[in-house]
Amino acid sequence: MSHPLPDFRCRSCGAAGARLILDLGTQPLANNLLREEDLARPEPRFPLRLVVCPACWLLQIADDVPPVQLFSEYLYFSSFSDTMLRHAQSAAERYCREFQLGPQNLVIEIASNDGYLLKNFVAAGVPCLGIEPAANIARVAVEKGIPTLVEFFGLALARRLAQEGRQADVILGNNVFAHAPDTNDFVAGLKHLLKPGGRVILEFPYGVEFLQNTEFDTIYHEHVYYFTLTALQPLFARHGLKMVDVERLPIHGGSLRLFAAHAGSLRPAPSVAARLEEEARLGLTTLAPYEAFAARVRRLKEELTALLARLKAEGRTVAAYGASAKGSTLLNYFGLGREHLDFIADRSTYKQGRLSPGLHLPIVPPEELLRRRPDYTLLLTWNFAEEILQQQAAYRAAGGRFILPIPEVRIV
Ligand code: ZN
Repeated sequence: MSHPLPDFRCRSCGAAGARLILDLGTQPLANNLLREEDLARPEPRFPLRLVVCPACWLLQIADDVPPVQLFSEYLYFSSFSDTMLRHAQSAAERYCREFQLGPQNLVIEIASNDGYLLKNFVAAGVPCLGIEPAANIARVAVEKGIPTLVEFFGLALARRLAQEGRQADVILGNNVFAHAPDTNDFVAGLKHLLKPGGRVILEFPYGVEFLQNTEFDTIYHEHVYYFTLTALQPLFARHGLKMVDVERLPIHGGSLRLFAAHAGSLRPAPSVAARLEEEARLGLTTLAPYEAFAARVRRLKEELTALLARLKAEGRTVAAYGASAKGSTLLNYFGLGREHLDFIADRSTYKQGRLSPGLHLPIVPPEELLRRRPDYTLLLTWNFAEEILQQQAAYRAAGGRFILPIPEVRIV
């Protein structure tokens, strides 16, 4: 059963009485990969608890971590995933066509990373501006010719850009909305930055798929919200915006692409009401689906730890693939360290040679899978399973097998 959390107020509506759904204990920062020399210092750890607000039903993390600590050296470069690059290109082409974007328009992307999405607008001759708080990543975008401000997005920045006459026809935000702790400030910023007839297009992991597929490993300190339309409707309304269309996307274990506009400016597509009705049918304004999710997480923990213990007892070797944030949550919550796993393979050269948060597993290039041939490899980046299984065809042909942990434990 879930317990009320007395000292917490909902980050959206301000209501008290949030219910604790899942306590993941004290976790290291999921993107804070370490070097050998970092081991001499204590590693920062913070509580990680998922709660739901019983007034607006927003699923959220209860505990705060200072943003500087989170973003000072952010190692996720979007351009490293083929799937993400293709997704970005087709989205950009579609928006240029559908909204007839040209030299007279402005596209602004929040958390523009290394410019993997905006470069497609630059190529199409559409003026654009990136906003990216991580200086080392913004520099990569600027070097590619994509104008980028090194700042956190919020109401203050939106007001300043609007005063400079830099309001946007299209505001894009991929995998940033759920990561911005002050969600009222973020949405107020969208309202101020948007031209009268403009559109906001946000992509974020969908709370319903998070619950249904037991994607508890997407819980980490940076990922503050697990949005449903039920919870977003009052948040947008509070700031004079309205949801006008919604699409489901397969990426990141199931995401939403949400279109919003100034309230009263556009007639909403039927997709919005349909999705809200579906969420009502799933009982998202009751505690039951949240508590059922937590029970499934506990069962998954028992199953996976039992499987790995059995493989070890049989003398099998086991490694992991994907030094991702979700991998950190899963390994730390399940307590899977060097006694269970020999190493983590990862394609990113920025991660190789470092140690995983909390459990300090060494991160090595993917070629090590074929060289060292662990009998089993736990696929922590299961959201890219298709791509990774293809890349690792030689390892699998040599007898290597992958363990998929989510939504249920499966060996392929
Ligand atoms: Zn609330």
